Parts: sequence; C-alpha cells; structure tokens
Amino acid sequence: MQQVSSRLAGLSPSATLAMSQKSNVLKAQGIDIINLSVGEPDFFTSDHIKAAAKKAIEQNFSFYSPVSGYMDLRKAIVAKLKNENGLDFTVDQIVVSNGAKQSVCNTLLSIVNPGDEVIVPAPYWVSYIEMVKLAEGTNVIIPTGIDRQFKITASQLEAAITPQTKALILCSPSNPTGSVYHKEELQALANVLAKHPDIIVLSDEIYEHINYIGKHISIAHFPEIKERVVIINGVSKAYAMTGWRIGFIAAPLWIAQATNKLQGQYTSGASSIAQKAATEALCGDQHCVEQMRQTFMRRRNLISGLCKEIPDVQLSLPDGAFYIFPNISSYFGKSYANYRISNAADLSMYLLEVGHVATVEGGAFGAPEYIRLSYATSDENIIEAMKRIRKALAQLK
Ligand code: PMP
Repeated sequence: MQQVSSRLAGLSPSATLAMSQKSNVLKAQGIDIINLSVGEPDFFTSDHIKAAAKKAIEQNFSFYSPVSGYMDLRKAIVAKLKNENGLDFTVDQIVVSNGAKQSVCNTLLSIVNPGDEVIVPAPYWVSYIEMVKLAEGTNVIIPTGIDRQFKITASQLEAAITPQTKALILCSPSNPTGSVYHKEELQALANVLAKHPDIIVLSDEIYEHINYIGKHISIAHFPEIKERVVIINGVSKAYAMTGWRIGFIAAPLWIAQATNKLQGQYTSGASSIAQKAATEALCGDQHCVEQMRQTFMRRRNLISGLCKEIPDVQLSLPDGAFYIFPNISSYFGKSYANYRISNAADLSMYLLEVGHVATVEGGAFGAPEYIRLSYATSDENIIEAMKRIRKALAQLK
C-alpha cells in the first residue's frame, strides 16, 4: 500500500515554493510572468566568496566536515556575534547546518516533546508551523495586524503562555511582513519571559542585515534571558548565498549538543566547500552587504510608493527584509469574468493568471487578508508588476 507516514500526511507543502512552480509553468507556456513570490536576493554571490570556494576545492576540502562545522567557521561566527551583536558565545555553542531552515528544525526537534506548546506570532514564516508539527508540538498562534506593524505585545505574550509552553519563535526582521522589533519592544517581551524561566526563545535573525532603521538588536541582548535564547542565522540573505546552504545556531550549550547529536545521525556536517565560502563571507570584505541593503531600501521605497497609489490597498511601510505585505481584503467579494475573489488565495491566483504577476497569498503565513510581494527584483520589474497589479485590481467589480 502506498501510504506515507501520518507524520508526513499532516505536513503542508511549502506555499512559497508552490507559487514559484506555478509561475514557472506559465512561463514555460510562453507567458511573460513577473515573479514577486521569491524569497531570495536576486544578486550574485560576491567574487571574493566564490574565490574562497574555488580555493577550497583546489585544496581538497572534499572530506566529511565536523558535524557542527569547521572550527574556523565557528570561530568566525563567534567573532561575528561579538563584533556585530555584542554577544559572547563559545565555539561549542555554535552548530552549522544546511541553511537556517535546518537550524530551526534541528532546534525544535531537539527541545519539543509531543504536546509541548510553541508560541508563534502570526503572520509567520510558513515553515515554523510545519516544523512544530513534525516535532509533534502544538502551535499557539498570536495574531497581529497591520495596525501594530504585525508585532506582538508583552500582554499578548503573557496571555499565550501556559504551563505547557516550551518555546517562542520570534522573527525580526520578519518574513513575511518586513517588521522589525525595536529595542523597547524586545525589552518588554524579555521582561515577560524573565518570569518564565523554562521557555526557550528561537530568535530567527536571518534578515539581520536587511534592516532600514538602524542597527540590528537581538533579543539575546537582554541578560535576564540570554541563557535561553537560540539565535538562528546564516549567510543566505545577507550575502546572497541561498543555494550554498549554510546556516547556524548560537545556543545554550545543552541545545547545541543536542542538535549536534541529531544532525550527526541524519545529515552530518554541512558542505565543506560551502563552509569555506561562508567563512570568507563572514571574515572578508563586508562591502557587498551594505550595497545590497541600500539597493533593497531603494526598492522598498519604490514598491511601497507604487502600492500606496493603488485604491483600497492598505500598507504599513516595512522596516526590513525584502517583502511588502499589503492588506487586500477590500477586494474580497468582487469578480471579473470567471474569477470570483473570496480570499487572498483567490486574489493571488487572479493576479497570476490575469495580471501575470506571481505573489504569495497571506493564508500561508496565517494572515488571510494579505498577500506578500517580494521586491528582490529589478526596478523595471517592480514598476511593471505594480502597473499590472493595479490594472488587474481595477477590473474587479
Ligand atoms: N527563516 C526565515 C524567516 C526565512 O525567510 C528563511 C528563508 N526563506 C529561512 C529562515 C531559511 O534560510 P536558509 O536559506 O538559510 O535555510
């Protein structure tokens, strides 16, 4: 009998990847689709990073790497955390994985028992929910809206905590909303967490460097909870290295050891070549990071300005990442030709098939009144895509 495990049957496929696939199918039919559904920088990896990978190949870094990563990379991560974030970690507290995605999953699988509750603010990154399910935990969603820039408050957090709460997942800057928690907001959350010493915080900081409001602040910055924070980060977004697959955690020693044990049984150490490239990314010239940030900021301003000109679309100017997350619910109940828009999924499909722009519907992120547009694409694509969206929405009556 072809019957997948119940663990897998309960898992939803990635909505963002599904949308990319759908838009590729239309593209293959010769339709000119502009893809605003992607979750990766459109830049090439810098030459000095590529050179480090080539050198690693020449130097025969072709053997298994240590499960938690090469010592030079872990030292580079410790130095990065000290210099950029003012945080003290030892190399034993660092575990390198195949992307931050694996780092999040490793951590959840290492700490969550069946029935444990994991607090996830919505809108959330699509994979958190599914990973909690894989770990047989229970998702406890805290809804947020555009009015508070999609950020949870201390009292919302307090109300969500129960004796079963195992962890909180925080993502700042956020995918999908682009929101960035300010220091005072993080302090208020840390004050609540300080009263609950058994709760682990997974702080996903993968968009750290794509921040338009100043220096990144980690929730690990607050000493009252630092010993319980697992920082998730990597080189995918900051260094345009999504395909290289290098992420890491900086964690309490017991969690680092647990993920090391887990990883040792099912993936081993990450790619030796990619680790050498990541070491150069962290230690080498940082110019590319700032250049990309400035380009993203210019595009953020461009796309937000164009979005705000569209009637009946509500937008909060995002402070980081490379997404805008407009509320499009005033188009619900409208129709055009055979298309009837009941929800964000209908709207996203309509924009793809009629407007020829790929977006991701907010339901996938736990926010069914919104859609996510990625501006990790050229100015020309942004301008043309927003023109098409505006025209397609205007046809809905
Ligand atoms: N966290 C968030 C919030 C993300 O958006 C992504 C990438 N889409 C990841 C983690 C995973 O990044 P990586 O490529 O390093 O696995």
